[in-house]
Amino acid sequence: MLKLIDVDAGYGPIPVLHAVNMEVGKGEIITLIGANGAGKTTTLMAVCGMVAPRKGDILLEGISICGIPANRLVELGISQVPEGRLIFPDLTVAENLDMGAFLRKDREGIHQDIEYVFDLFPILADRRHQPGGTLSGGEQQMLAISRAIMARPRLLLLDEPSLGLAPMIIRQIFDIIVKINRESGTTIFLVEQNANQALKIAHRGYVMENGVITLTDTAANLLDNEDVKKAYLGI
Ligand code: ATP
Repeated sequence: MLKLIDVDAGYGPIPVLHAVNMEVGKGEIITLIGANGAGKTTTLMAVCGMVAPRKGDILLEGISICGIPANRLVELGISQVPEGRLIFPDLTVAENLDMGAFLRKDREGIHQDIEYVFDLFPILADRRHQPGGTLSGGEQQMLAISRAIMARPRLLLLDEPSLGLAPMIIRQIFDIIVKINRESGTTIFLVEQNANQALKIAHRGYVMENGVITLTDTAANLLDNEDVKKAYLGI
């Protein structure tokens, strides 16, 4: 579904990504793990059109998406849940969800999807009239994921959904990510520092160091890999 081919990218004169090659198959959960500052977020930003590759290409179902504006990428089926959630704090939960569906015109479908996300995260139904900024960190993450789902993405990009959350909430959110993948076939590209949790739900993984992909394998093999254990799993 998604292919990064020899992608170089960075910010102004600062190079960050170096010849990054990745493939995300339709219906897969792929995780990109790595240390602080490795370039994981920059990779996601390149996919969703926020950082322009200097070299290489990014293909969605075989067609280049480099240079396509972010709103058009949403229409093509790519939605992003940014690091730090970035929900609209002054809008209610229901209004945040409406914002996720702003490109859609199928009112019946939107209504069904609101029911679907309330089914995934019942707490959001209870909080539907509450401003997003008053939610707890975990609830805001649930809202950010739900808002992205409201665009009915085929490819969902998640940037560190576990950031700053308690282990119990992380498990709950990761269970829901699996549910979304299984129930709707949504392809998931998950960027995580929490390698242990991410590899437990992913089909395959990529390891990034200093903007370079250094290792790729099935998630099960990466969980068993001695170097990965030492560097990222604290074992
Ligand atoms: P983390 O897990 O800490 O979020 P990361 O792997 O996602 O890290 P990036 O956020 O992609 O890493 O950052 C990679 C490098 O790019 C870092 O050295 C960072 O300082 C730099 N960088 C990120 N954003 C910018 C920016 N807007 N301008 C300049 N440099 C940036």
